Amino acid sequence: MRDCPNKAVIVGAGPAGLTAAYELTKQGQRVVVLESDPEYVGGISRTVSYHGYRFDIGGHRFFSKSGEVEDLWTEILGTDMLQRPRSSKIYYGGQFYAYPLKPFEALSKLGIIESCLCVMSFLAARTSPTPNPRSFEEWVVNQFGERLFRIFFKTYTEKVWGMSCKEISADWAAQRIKGLSLGSAIKNALLPKRQPKVRTQLVKTLIDTFRYPRLGPGMMWDACAKKVRSMGGEVLLGRNVTGCRFDDATNSWTVTARTADGRVEEYRGEHVVSSMPVRQLVEQIEPRLPEDVLRSGEFLRYRDFLTVGLILRERNRFQDNWIYIHDPGVKVGRVQNYKSWSPEMVPDSKYCCYGLEYFCFEGDGLWTTPEQDLIALAKKELEQVGLAAAADVVDGCVIRQPKAYPVYDDGYKRHVEIIRTALDAHCPNLHLVGRNGMHKYNNQDHAMMTALLAARNILAGEKLYDVWAVNEDGEYHESGEAGAQSDKDGNGAAARATGT
Ligand SMILES: Cc1cc2nc3c(=O)[nH]c(=O)nc-3n(C[C@H](O)[C@H](O)[C@H](O)COP(=O)(O)OP(=O)(O)OC[C@H]3O[C@@H](n4cnc5c(N)ncnc54)[C@H](O)[C@@H]3O)c2cc1C
Repeated sequence: MRDCPNKAVIVGAGPAGLTAAYELTKQGQRVVVLESDPEYVGGISRTVSYHGYRFDIGGHRFFSKSGEVEDLWTEILGTDMLQRPRSSKIYYGGQFYAYPLKPFEALSKLGIIESCLCVMSFLAARTSPTPNPRSFEEWVVNQFGERLFRIFFKTYTEKVWGMSCKEISADWAAQRIKGLSLGSAIKNALLPKRQPKVRTQLVKTLIDTFRYPRLGPGMMWDACAKKVRSMGGEVLLGRNVTGCRFDDATNSWTVTARTADGRVEEYRGEHVVSSMPVRQLVEQIEPRLPEDVLRSGEFLRYRDFLTVGLILRERNRFQDNWIYIHDPGVKVGRVQNYKSWSPEMVPDSKYCCYGLEYFCFEGDGLWTTPEQDLIALAKKELEQVGLAAAADVVDGCVIRQPKAYPVYDDGYKRHVEIIRTALDAHCPNLHLVGRNGMHKYNNQDHAMMTALLAARNILAGEKLYDVWAVNEDGEYHESGEAGAQSDKDGNGAAARATGT
């Protein structure tokens, strides 16, 4: 590894890549971060600005059960982190329902007959549940009953994934709705709010405040990139990584990147930290991985996403942060009101900005629809669900996000396992981190914790931590005593490493 200019070449300047860079540069290591986007850092957690109005790629709540991740956010942004109230609703059958559901409101809006049918179908599901549920549908029906599943889960979930709830793995439900049951929803609605003593016991779906950067999530990642640069790290935009070659003789990696104007550049590092989609990574590795591993990469699928950002005259039609649109009569899946996330998301208080979210596959009809037609569709649907008059919309833009969601279908687990085993065997000093980097449908806190642990493995020169043991809440769970300790204090493994 003589003359190797970088401790690590980091692919991607999203939360995972920048967290790894931050941790390594803080410890005096040289790193270079290569980001394909020519303008923004932050990845899916960036904030796009259009004429001074700010749009997230989906509203990004900053909430983690890991105290260490929360502390890191405070360390990076300090007082620019706001504490915001959460308010969200579901639109279904021409009505708005508070979300998390308030059982009495929901029952009164559903009407007496439908309510009785829901209760009966809930009791039926509880008395004879499907043993070992495999699909999303089986899992949710077991938990809530067939009728509530159809009303409050099916249409939205199928909009998000573009496939039947029967094809979606129960893993996804268990992860995303974990801890939420009819019982916890009723308790939450009826009892006075008491915060559990231990952060890890919070039900994420039910929390009623969250933190949010003053200017959107991108503000966090701009600040992080700035700190990395000020400590001597490089964060280079407009660098699309196309190859990762390991050289046995020098025991180092050479990463090839293409710039927007077609130049090819090479960067050498002792380690590679990759947050690019794992499907892409396996194709790029040299020496080439075995054929079955490349085939497993091809099986991994993604769901894509676009936001139509609209700027409207403020009529105070709704104050919620977001509204899920379960109604099958429109294509839009969710509407965000960014001014409710932070008043500074708009430069002029006479206006507000909404994000209408459409789930699609790259290249399908929605994805390829021209921008002006998408804006027209969003205006029409906004009026159809009663959230604004189309005439109040003064301007709009479209933000496309490929590979927003790694798909959890029947085979994904097996294929990820094949890839993971092969990379362990063939690729020394290669660290997979983050959401698409590990094909895990997880939030920023998970991406950050995997990156922190990967950085600590690099600093230690050995694999102290298994990044695959970080759960969806950004907590590190390892079997044995150490893991049990990190469970108890809710700070994760990193707390052990730093002695906090
Ligand atoms: C609709 C939606 C809502 C969400 N809401 C929340 C929320 O409320 N709270 C929360 O915490 N999280 C939320 N998330 C999840 C959050 O966005 C992700 O967990 C987080 O951004 C993952 O970080 P990452 O660094 O792993 O990946 P990414 O954010 O995907 O970043 C990866 C980066 O790598 C770059 N890259 C990829 N390939 C290459 C290449 N070949 N060469 C160079 N660069 C490359 C990409 O351009 C990108 O910048 C949401 C996600 C979505 C889609």
